[in-house]
This record gives sequence, structure tokens and C-alpha cells, in this order.
Amino acid sequence: MAFGGDRDPQERKRRPPARPAPRLTLDTPVTYLKGVGPVRAELLARLGITMAGDLLRHVPHRYEDASTVTRIAQAVVGADITVLGQVIAKGVLPTRKGLRVFQAVVQDASGMIEVAWPGQPFLDRTINKGDWLLCTGQVRFFHGRRLQPREFVNLGPEEEGTNEGRVLAVYPSTEGLSVRVLRAMVQQHLEQLLPLVQETLPREILAQADVPPLPEALRLVHRPTSVAEALRGRARLAFEELLCVQLLHRKANQVAREARGGTAFVNRRDLTTKLRAVLPYTLTGAQVRAIREIVADMASPRRMHRLLQGDVGAGKTVVAVFSALLAMENRAQVALMAPTELLAEQHARSIGALLAPLGISPVLLTGRLGAKERRAALARLADDEPVLAIGTHALIQGDVAFANLGLAIIDEQHRFGVEQRATLGLKGKAPDVLLMSATPIPRSLALTLYGDLDVSVLDERPPGRHPITTVVRPESGRPKVFEFANTQLDAGRQVYVVYPLIETSEKMELKAATVMFEELVSGPFATRRVALLHGRLPADERDLIMRAFRDGEVDVLVATTVIEVGIDVGNATVMIIEHPERFGLSQLHQLRGRVGRGAEQSYCILLGDVGAEAAERLGLFAGTEDGFEIARADLQLRGMGDLFGAKQHGLPAFRIADPLRDEALNETARIVAERVLKDDPQLTAPSHQGLRHLLTVGYARALELFRVG
Ligand code: ADP
Ligand code: MG
Repeated sequence: MAFGGDRDPQERKRRPPARPAPRLTLDTPVTYLKGVGPVRAELLARLGITMAGDLLRHVPHRYEDASTVTRIAQAVVGADITVLGQVIAKGVLPTRKGLRVFQAVVQDASGMIEVAWPGQPFLDRTINKGDWLLCTGQVRFFHGRRLQPREFVNLGPEEEGTNEGRVLAVYPSTEGLSVRVLRAMVQQHLEQLLPLVQETLPREILAQADVPPLPEALRLVHRPTSVAEALRGRARLAFEELLCVQLLHRKANQVAREARGGTAFVNRRDLTTKLRAVLPYTLTGAQVRAIREIVADMASPRRMHRLLQGDVGAGKTVVAVFSALLAMENRAQVALMAPTELLAEQHARSIGALLAPLGISPVLLTGRLGAKERRAALARLADDEPVLAIGTHALIQGDVAFANLGLAIIDEQHRFGVEQRATLGLKGKAPDVLLMSATPIPRSLALTLYGDLDVSVLDERPPGRHPITTVVRPESGRPKVFEFANTQLDAGRQVYVVYPLIETSEKMELKAATVMFEELVSGPFATRRVALLHGRLPADERDLIMRAFRDGEVDVLVATTVIEVGIDVGNATVMIIEHPERFGLSQLHQLRGRVGRGAEQSYCILLGDVGAEAAERLGLFAGTEDGFEIARADLQLRGMGDLFGAKQHGLPAFRIADPLRDEALNETARIVAERVLKDDPQLTAPSHQGLRHLLTVGYARALELFRVG
């Protein structure tokens, strides 16, 4: 019935099946529905559908109508389109490389097109002549126009040839349970199930968000007469989801602070004033603002739990140093953690230089220390003296003991898991926590994703940096690009060349780093010192290569995206990115941030022939260095997964809502959540029982937060 990332899947399994079902409820196991046997039930379970009510909550992720389908005659090579047509011929063909391709010729009233699924000969068993297919993908040229679907739906033979005037709901499906079957199943039970649905939200909240009541919303998403109607229904479900997450976050935020009173530091302005005096530049307005917010947190007895967000080069480090000094002038210890040893060393060096005039030298603790150095470092931490310790997460693990840890700072926080962050709370006396992130995201999204954190944003660049020249060059310009790189190398600069994949895949024919490395060392960079860096190398080997590049022992670093974080080489001025269309804009932005870190003019060159759509995206990227603007465009174009990568930890899972696209709804949800918790902190009011139920069923965490007995 509910959704959300952190529900306990066991919870439902424990529920004994009511047998025989005397009366259908939303909690009745799906096996009691007509047409659902044990086999189907198992397939449904894979989609998270185990009870009748889950079927209602299984919402289409897409709708197609006449306005989104392209007439086949109008399909042009290079375009990304959806077509609806009937299979008039089909078969499996082998290719020269031994790959078997399922092919079908699909026809609508305007014409026909070949559709091909390389490596999926098994589709021959499920796609039949006469079936109507809805296919989405790119049109290529291969002995004529050919569509290679990224996604497709088999509508079966019974669909009428024209889809005009109707809306087709496309459901998330699974192998063995097609969209067609799912749609039929939902339609068959809709009338029976809808009357059982009870409203979860009070009427005034519905009114405030301007969304329909739940039963109506469910009808709209499953049986819309227009896409607009479907979206209206969807908005209701999205709002509910956003409201739940906002409630949980706000509550978690309150509970965390009440439960663990942090230390209240006194703003003595002793060390911080000294730093201000020796700082070689003036702080930006954004830095001043962030420092003020952090000081207020640290001076309060509540524990600080703050995220400092700012683009690469925004100047987060000095903000962190100010907070460290505030802790230290209160005689507390500080730990600064970086995701790699190299980054930790970098911090130790630059912060060490910054603090030298104050007579403070940070303690660097990494795995590279000898036994004696390590003992000395550990002794300083065990001593009850103020100290700034810099290292990797090893700082807060194992035999490392702090006498008086008052502040923990985590750089590039997204690289740390939730558990690692949680370990922090157990260290010492619940230190204040400052997280730092260089993934710029719009404030509204940050507030949702990190809703249990407070957020400070550095949205202002320090002055005096050269803009990076970004250009897009076609394949034909390749020789010139490498010629240019060579002139930079002649001037003593260093160069990055980045590829999206490690090995050439036959299917995609991308230039892989390993293959291109060979080409480059025997071609344009024959006289240079070139190194290859990729994610399959052991960590210590990667580390050696990065060190060599940093120390100027390597001229050209050919790499996959592993260089995204963790290397800062001021002498590197050229970043060449091959197959730029394969990268998300935010990823490109991170890569570009690796150059332009020194005094010299730097260049980012996107190399390759790209389609019209990609060219537009890349043009946008080339035209701005504002990470927030880029992130916003990226989110709009590709969704959240891309921005953070698959490994992002600890984010709430949204099934329906998209906090960015649903920005207005999300903002309303935030306001409503705040008011609800203010009026009724434990959600005990009768009007909040639906909401309370929704939270406790859907989110394991709600049990602890709302003290459900
Ligand atoms: P990031 O936010 O990526 O961690 P850093 O803290 O490494 O950025 O800062 C990038 C560079 O900008 C550093 O060399 C730093 O000394 C410099 N810097 C930081 N703040 C300012 C400022 N207000 N004015 C000029 N330069 C600054
Ligand atoms: Mg940094």
C-alpha cells in the first residue's frame, strides 16, 4: 500500500494470508484476485506487488498518446522517437560477429520501419506477427532506417490500429509479466478496488496542495482520458510521497538534535581573527555567510549537522578551516576526512601553509605513515590538546582515539557511506558535523535529499580565476586537437584525455581508454610520458600513477572517470574528453574542474561527432561554468540517478515524485510538513491518523521517530 526505500520487506511476509478471503480488502494477498495464480503472484512480487492495494499503487511511469508518437514516415535518422506499429514480418538473423539479432518490420498507416534488438533472439518467442508494438529509441542508418528500441511495449494483436484520442498507460514491468498483462490486470480490478481506498490526508492539506483526493487520483493515473488528467492524478501521489519524506526529515532533524546535546562553543575570535589577518585574499560574501551559519550552529548547544555545498573551486576548504579554528580555540580537537589519501595529503599541505603563520600544523594520518610516525600522530590525538587531524575515514576507525573530538569535517561527503557517517556520532562526545560536497544541486533539491541536514551554499566564485575555454570539436578535428595538446605540452603543461569505458565493446564501438592509450603512445604522444589510469587497476597502483602525474613525472594522463575526484594538478591545462555525449553534464563539469586550477589559461575540449540533441546539451555546457545551472539542466534532462551515480548512499527513494521536476509540490510539502509537526509533533490528532499510518507502514524509520508503541 505504501512506498518508500526503507520499508522492511520482511514485515509483509510475516503477515499470515487470510484464507479463505471472505471479503476483499486492500491488504488481501494478490493471489485472491481473479486471474492471479501462484506463478503470476511471484512475478508480481518482483514488482513489489503482494497485496491487492499494491496493484493500485503500481502506477504507470509513462503515458503515450497521439501527441507523443511519431508517424513512422516521419522517423528521421538520428532522432529519438516513439513509434506505434504492427508487426508485418519478423525473424532472427545472425551477424558476422556471431551476435543474433531479432528483427521485426513494423508498420503504421504512414509507412514501415525495421526494428532490431541485437543479442535478444529470444524475443522471437513473445513477439508475433500482427502484434502492435510501441517502441522508443534512436533511429539509425543500417541498410535503411532502423530503430533500436531502448524500451518497447508489446500491446498484443487486439489493439486497434490507431491510438488517436486515447491514452496508453505504460507500467513498469518485469520479464514474464508484460505491460500488456499488467494493464489488463489493473483494468480488470480497478472498479472493485477503488471503493476500498481511504483518504490518507486531511482535506485542508489536499486543498493547499491543489491535488485530488486519493481514490480519484488513482482512477486518473490508471484510466485517464488525457495525459493532463493522468498527470493530475500523479501529482497527488507524488505529493504524498514528498510530504512523507519531508515529515521524516524534519522529525529526524529535531530528534537528532534533542537527543544529543552537542558542545556549545564560544566564539572567542582568537585564532579566527588571526587567520583573517594573514589570509592572502578577502572572503567572498558566500563564504562569510557560510561561516556565520556554521558559527551559529557551533555556538548553540544543539549538535551541528550541516552540509556545505559549493562548486569545485568555490573555496570550501577555508570555510572548513575557520570552523576548525573555532573548535580549537575552545580547546577541542578536529578531524578532517577526505575520500582518498591523496586528497588528504593535498589538504594537509594547503591547510598547513594557511595555518603556518598561526603556529598550527595539522596532523596527517594516512596509511603511508611509518610505524614510528603513526605512533607519534596517534599520541597527539590521544593527548588532550587542540589539534587538527587530517586523513581518510581511517581517522575515525580502529585504534585511533581522540581525547576530545569536538568537530568532524567530511570532504566530498558523497563518497562516504551512511554507516561511515554514522560512526562519527559515536566518536567522543557527539561532535559537531560539517559535510562538504562539490556536487552543486539546487537548494530545493538539497533540502529534500539532505532534509535532515542544514544546508549552506557557496554560490559565488572567488574572483580572479581564468575562465576555462570549452569547445566541442568534431572527429575531423582530431589531428588539430592533439596538435594543440602538444603545443601545451611543449610549454611544459600537462594534459588529461578521458574516455567513458575501459574496454572496447563491440556493440557500442566506443573508443576505450586501453585501446586509445596504445594509439596515443604510438601516435600523437609518441615522445611524451603517458600513463593509463582506470578503475580496474588496484588502488595502490592508481595512487602511484596519480602521484606521478601530480609530481610532473607524467605528461599525459589517459583515464576513465576515476580522475573525477581526488587529483588537483595546477600545471594541467588541457582536458580532452572523448565521446562527451556519454557523460552527464554534471560529470563533465566535475571533469572540467580538474583543469583551470593554476595560473595558466586552461582548455576543455569535447571531441567527437555527436547527434543534434547531444550537441545542444554540450553547447549549453560549453557556455557556462556555473555548476548549479549545469546541475539543474542535467537533472531536467537525465534525472537524479545520473547526477549522483549508482552508488550514492542514503538518499530517500522516490517512486513517483521527482523533487526537482515537482519543485512546487515539494515546496508545498515542506511547508505543510513544518506546520503539521508544529501543531502535532507525534501525529496523534485524529486527522493525522492516515498520514501516521502511511509513514509507519512505508518507512521503517518512522517507527523510531514517532515513537510508535
Ligand atoms: P573547493 O570548494 O573546490 O574545495 P578550495 O577550497 O580548494 O575549493 O579553493 C579553491 C582555490 O580558491 C584555492 O586555491 C583557494 O586558496 C582559493 N580561494 C578560496 N577562497 C578564495 C577567495 N575568497 N578569494 C580568492 N581565492 C580563494
Ligand atoms: Mg575541496
